[in-house]
Amino acid sequence: MSKVIIIGAGGVANVTAKKCAQNDGVFSEVLIATRTVSKADRIVEEIGEHFPNSKTKFSTATVDADNVPELVKLIEGFGPEMVINLALPYQDLTIMDACLETGVHYLDTANYEPKDVAKFEYSWQWAYQERFKEKGLMALLGCGFDPGATQAMAAYHAKHHFDEMHYLDIVDCNNGDHGKAFATNFNPEINIREITANGRYFEDGEWVETAPLEISQDIYYPKVATRKSYVLYHEELESLVKNFPTIKRARFWMTFGDPYIKHLNVLEGIGMTSIEPIDFKGQRIAPIEFLKAVLPAPESLAANYTGQTCIGVQVKGKGKDGEDKVHFIYNVTDHAETYKEVQAQGISYTTGVPAMIGAMLMLRGEWMQPGVWNVEQLDPDPFFAAMNRWGLPLEELSGIELVK
Ligand code: NDP
Repeated sequence: MSKVIIIGAGGVANVTAKKCAQNDGVFSEVLIATRTVSKADRIVEEIGEHFPNSKTKFSTATVDADNVPELVKLIEGFGPEMVINLALPYQDLTIMDACLETGVHYLDTANYEPKDVAKFEYSWQWAYQERFKEKGLMALLGCGFDPGATQAMAAYHAKHHFDEMHYLDIVDCNNGDHGKAFATNFNPEINIREITANGRYFEDGEWVETAPLEISQDIYYPKVATRKSYVLYHEELESLVKNFPTIKRARFWMTFGDPYIKHLNVLEGIGMTSIEPIDFKGQRIAPIEFLKAVLPAPESLAANYTGQTCIGVQVKGKGKDGEDKVHFIYNVTDHAETYKEVQAQGISYTTGVPAMIGAMLMLRGEWMQPGVWNVEQLDPDPFFAAMNRWGLPLEELSGIELVK
């Protein structure tokens, strides 16, 4: 029975909190602390309505997670075993600092990003390795779906199917429809920064840079659709090629519809996606922050969302029997079903469930070890079992090359 603090009360935190309520044998007390406390209160109200038999005790608090002393006070006041960070990537380091100061474990779902440069890399967080180790604390980085489950899939490929992994492709398809002309499925600022940045993939020991959305191909997503998919840079590629040095090429693909790209091109063309602050009526404001305020909140898309997501990892290489093989592991999630279960769309669901699972595996001791870890460094078997148990069943397909 464990006490945890969830920081943030957005789309992902909503799902993780409700999954903790379902898993009340592990999570006895949860404090949801965030900037706008009314959002946390709303989640707790919904838990009361939808999970009235849960024994998990919930409370809420206000915190500015950019402020270490405030975080330290919050953590000391509640006395949790760990903090689940579901705020924004900007807050990762301050929350890690506060965890070190108070002696509690840490988990997040996205790598640290400085506010002023769109830069996706683990260097800042990997630099905490010795400090977490010395204190006997664990920090688990990027335990959502991608990053997160995709790395567990890679580790599962390596453990059960391949002697050597050579070609790794992560594919992420959202074939859902929310009925809006343009909206992002998670935090717009983070999402748009990711898509408008240059693409990058790993080949023969080097990173190859592309223009944004320069490389594409049609990919068949089992049980869902064939969709045009684009190469993006995604943070888990960095740790995967480090932890699996036999990988010759690693790429990340995501689907975007033509209307989405058209809107994005126009917004970018007129400067609305820029992170450079401008002067506006005596205020400094980054256009992308203003755009975020205008776009629909990701959680507001949930009620009318239909269709599925399909996210998976294809690996080609030398199988356990010494023969060349290709293998695909994936999950299909239905937006309307996740709404019925936890009042969230599929993207928040596929992120929030692995965050609960990662926390559970740390608290139950199966994954707990001092230091800073990426998901593929840990045993994928208990994670896979928990994904199947907690709403994200995994499927496998052998012998068909979906990504060329
Ligand atoms: P939202 O924008 O919906 O929620 C973020 C929450 O953090 C909000 O409640 C926000 O408060 C709060 N917050 C922001 N800044 C602060 C601060 N300084 N102090 C306290 N609280 C703060 O984001 P999502 O729920 O969609 O995403 C959460 C995280 O999950 C992000 O880091 C995102 O990158 C990551 N993610 C990971 C994925 C994966 O597969 N690994 C996929 C999707 C998302 P307020 O309500 O006041 O704005």
